[in-house]
Amino acid sequence: MRTTRTELYVDRYAERTRGMTASEIRALFAVATRPEVVSLAGGMPYTAALDHAAVAAVTQEVLRTAGSDALQYGGGQGLATLRERLVEVMAAEGVPATPDEVVVTTGGQQALDLVAKLFCDAGDLVLAEGPSYVGALGAFATYQAEVVHVPLDDDGLEPDALEATLERLASGGRRPKFLYTIPNHQNPAGCSLSGRRREDLAEIIERHDLLVVEDNPYGLLDFKGELRPALRSLVPDRVIYVGTLSKILSPGLRIGWLVAPEPVRDKLVLLKEAADLCQSNFTQFVAERWFATQPWLQQVETFREVYRERCDAMLAELDASFPPSCHWTVPTGGFFVWVRLPNGLDSRELLAKALSERVAYVPGTAFYAGGGGADALRLSFCYPPAERIREGVRRLGELLTDELELVNAVYGRRA
Ligand code: PMP
Repeated sequence: MRTTRTELYVDRYAERTRGMTASEIRALFAVATRPEVVSLAGGMPYTAALDHAAVAAVTQEVLRTAGSDALQYGGGQGLATLRERLVEVMAAEGVPATPDEVVVTTGGQQALDLVAKLFCDAGDLVLAEGPSYVGALGAFATYQAEVVHVPLDDDGLEPDALEATLERLASGGRRPKFLYTIPNHQNPAGCSLSGRRREDLAEIIERHDLLVVEDNPYGLLDFKGELRPALRSLVPDRVIYVGTLSKILSPGLRIGWLVAPEPVRDKLVLLKEAADLCQSNFTQFVAERWFATQPWLQQVETFREVYRERCDAMLAELDASFPPSCHWTVPTGGFFVWVRLPNGLDSRELLAKALSERVAYVPGTAFYAGGGGADALRLSFCYPPAERIREGVRRLGELLTDELELVNAVYGRRA
C-alpha cells in the first residue's frame, strides 16, 4: 500500500526526468528577492526603461484595428508580418535571413528546447562553451544529451580547444550533434568572440562538418553599438540561429525565434505545433506593431545606456573592493561579469555567507554540466541601479577579502 503522494508518483516518472534538479538560480530567488538583499544574481532586463506609454498605445492600436485576429489562434510558424519585422531586426545586426526561414517561439528558451528535442537522443553529445547558459544546459539535460564543455577566455570560445575536443571525441568514435554557442556578450562569461576567432571557427565548423546553434540575445546590446559578424553570416547552411525580443523589448511578451534551413524549419514547425499549437498571436501582433511604428532602435539605445552605466559602476567597484587576486571579465555589452576566485575560495560554499551579508550572486557551478565552476561566480549588472550595484559589490568584496585572509592564514600564504 502506498502511503505518501510522493510514493504514488515516484516510479511513474519518465526516465529522462531522473536527473532533473531545480537550477541554482531558482533556488536562490526566494532569498535574493528580499528587499534588503542586493541581487547581482538574476538576469532580468530592466523593463522600467521601456517606454510603457508607447507599449500601451501599440497594444490599443492592435485591439482597435485587428482585435479579432490578434485574439484568435495563429499559424505554427508565427505571424508572417512579424517574421518580416524580425528579419529587419536581424538585418540591423547584419544577420542574413528571410521571413520564410523564421519560426517564432516562446522566447529563445523554447527555441533551445525545440532544437534539443529535434536533434538529441539520450546519450548524444552536445558541445557548449564552459561556462554556458544555464537554461540551455537545462534544455539539453531534459533530452538526456551529454554536454562537453569547450573552454573560453576573454576573446570567447577557444578555437584550438574546440579542435582538440573534436579530435579527441572522433578518436573515441564520437561525434557531437551540434555546438551550442553564444558569441556576443556571453551568458554567463560576459565576453565576445573576437573577429579573428569567428573566421577560425567558421573554418573548423566546415572542416569538421559541424552543426552550430548560435544563440544571440545580447548582440544589439553592445555598449558602443559595435557589431560582429554572426556565424550565420559566415557558414549559413550550418547554423541554426536563435533570437529573442526579451532584451531589446520585453521578456514578458515571450517572443523568440529560430532561423533554420528549410527542411529543418519544417520539422521545427511540427515540433512547435505539438508543443503549443502556436505562439501567442496577441503578443506577436503587439511586437509587429512595435517594430512597424516605434523608433525601436532608439529604445535599444536607451537600454544600452542603462546597462553601460551599470556595468561601469560594477567594474569601478570591483577595482576598488575586490581582492587583487580575483580576475574578472570586462564586458563590452550584455548583462554579466564573470569573476574567477583565487585558489581556496569556493563560490558555492560562500553563497550562504554572502546572503547573510545581503548580497546575492550565482555560483559558477550553475553554468557547467556535471561539475566545475566552483572557482568562479557570475555577477549581473542589468537590474539594480548603479548605487545598489556598488553597495552589493562592496559587500561581496569585504566578504571575499575576509575569507581570503582566513584561507591564507590556514595555508600560510601571503594575502
Ligand atoms: N539564451 C541566453 C544566452 C539567455 O541569456 C537567455 C535569457 N536569459 C535566453 C536564451 C532565453 O531568453 P528568452 O526565453 O526570454 O528569450
